[in-house]
Amino acid sequence: MGTGTKKKILIVEDETQISRFLQLELEHENYDCTVVADGREALAVALDGDFDLIVLDVMLPSLNGIEVLRRLRQERQTPVIILTARDQVVDKVTGLDIGADDYMTKPFAIEELLARIRLHTKRAAAPAAFLAVGKLAINPEARVATYDGHPVDLTKKEFDLLEYLMRNRNIVVSREKLLDAVWGFDFYGSTNVVDVYVRYLRSKIDDVYKIDLIETVRGAGYVIR
Ligand code: CA
Repeated sequence: MGTGTKKKILIVEDETQISRFLQLELEHENYDCTVVADGREALAVALDGDFDLIVLDVMLPSLNGIEVLRRLRQERQTPVIILTARDQVVDKVTGLDIGADDYMTKPFAIEELLARIRLHTKRAAAPAAFLAVGKLAINPEARVATYDGHPVDLTKKEFDLLEYLMRNRNIVVSREKLLDAVWGFDFYGSTNVVDVYVRYLRSKIDDVYKIDLIETVRGAGYVIR
């Protein structure tokens, strides 16, 4: 992204005073702002646009911010800062659980919000912090996997195998290739170990969430589509 490109921020807030204030402050900081006041509309705009960050109020008409975030995370990993009222501790916790990157409690200091926006838009510019396939999301750096917001507990090798298959999405990967990539060239076991670990992953993801994540391609290997 060139230095002349403005970062795009989606402001989702139904209190006009707050959204106007945010818009003015953010535009002053040279962000390109879109303002939406309704939950359903916000979800549609967020999925349709290519935003660098979303500031998301929780209490919204038609669809609350938590639900907007939950549905957004099924398809997008756009950084989200949720805005909660002072007494909405549950919203804060739920928001972080389902994939908010940060939260601010109203009333907030604009300088603090701006600092967090800078932080999270910077992180978003780094290469693929998250990988997602449907409701399954992994963060290779933090080595965290979630399905629809629920943590999936994986061992190191299970995680490595899943990450490799997700990075090679739609490509059928042979057992030999997986063995090299995940276990390394110095591994002297048979390729059966790959089948065993695919079985482990299926028991933790496919079986639990009733999906067919890892497809077996007979005689060729495995693929995640
Ligand atoms: Ca509100």
